[in-house]
Amino acid sequence: MSINQPNVVVIGSINMDMVTKSNRFPKKGETITGQSFHQLPGGKGANQAVAVARLGAKVTMVGAVGDDSTGQAMIKKLNEEQIDTSYVQILKKNTTGMAQITVSEQDNQIIIVPGANHALTREHIDAAKEVIQSADIVVLQLEIPLDIVEYAAELASAVGGKVILNPAPAPSAPLSKKLLQNISYVTPNETELAEMTGQTNVELGMNELLLNESVPTVIVTLGSEGVGFKQKEDLLTRYVKGQHVEVLDTTGAGDTFNGALSYCLAQGIELAQSIEFANAAAGLSVTKFGAQSGMPTLTEVKETMA
Ligand code: ATP
Repeated sequence: MSINQPNVVVIGSINMDMVTKSNRFPKKGETITGQSFHQLPGGKGANQAVAVARLGAKVTMVGAVGDDSTGQAMIKKLNEEQIDTSYVQILKKNTTGMAQITVSEQDNQIIIVPGANHALTREHIDAAKEVIQSADIVVLQLEIPLDIVEYAAELASAVGGKVILNPAPAPSAPLSKKLLQNISYVTPNETELAEMTGQTNVELGMNELLLNESVPTVIVTLGSEGVGFKQKEDLLTRYVKGQHVEVLDTTGAGDTFNGALSYCLAQGIELAQSIEFANAAAGLSVTKFGAQSGMPTLTEVKETMA
């Protein structure tokens, strides 16, 4: 570990994505033959941890899997990415989180069974208190229970730590003041911003979070359009344009963005520069298949920015 290696803690979900490809969906009661099946490691927490680790940060994952072979496989996969899994709990009474994804030529369908992700408790977070409070940045999403996200943010910010909240998947109601008051950077996509604020206009949505909820920095990802961001201190909206790339698979673009952003912010890199870097990393990720498999290394991001 180099002295300047940023120290990032990701607290969130670990899922196995079970992806079936089929020409069409079965009708009610029908059995059909599919074309292919893949098991791909996923979950927004694990994905973001992999994104940061691949860039070279020291990463600790806080989360939970079930006491099953899938859980073991997920931990092994995280360890292969040099991620510290000492605070990934193996919960006896739960299954590892699973996303059942069916992709047809027209559409896709997803069923998520959170399993162990939803059995995370305050005690599990407390077990990691020391690493959380000594991190350069803590990264959170919304695939674990909301009260645990609130608790983890409170613990991190109690010692003045920086906290990124990626409010994904989109919350069904506005997030509590209790949570938002402990967040340094919030990173919704347009849908999530609208769900959080009730505003479909991006500018108004950002203002709502900055002025009414007092989040210091709002960063909105805009898919191929890039990123918009705004800070409470000057209320000026700035944009970074999306990369012109050949798109193969956008799965995990948001996770790559959040991972790369936390990698930069953990080192104290200035906001606009951090967002440029994260936008470049996410742009690279959509040129490759898969969420984790498409996440770039530091050399790859630097090359694309040169
Ligand atoms: P996902 O759910 O697919 O992981 P998301 O909805 O959370 O993504 P997006 O806003 O779609 O987030 O994408 C995140 C970032 O990825 C964008 O801000 C941009 O930097 C990059 N990105 C996404 N799609 C493209 C694209 N088609 N071309 C270039 N960059 C892209």
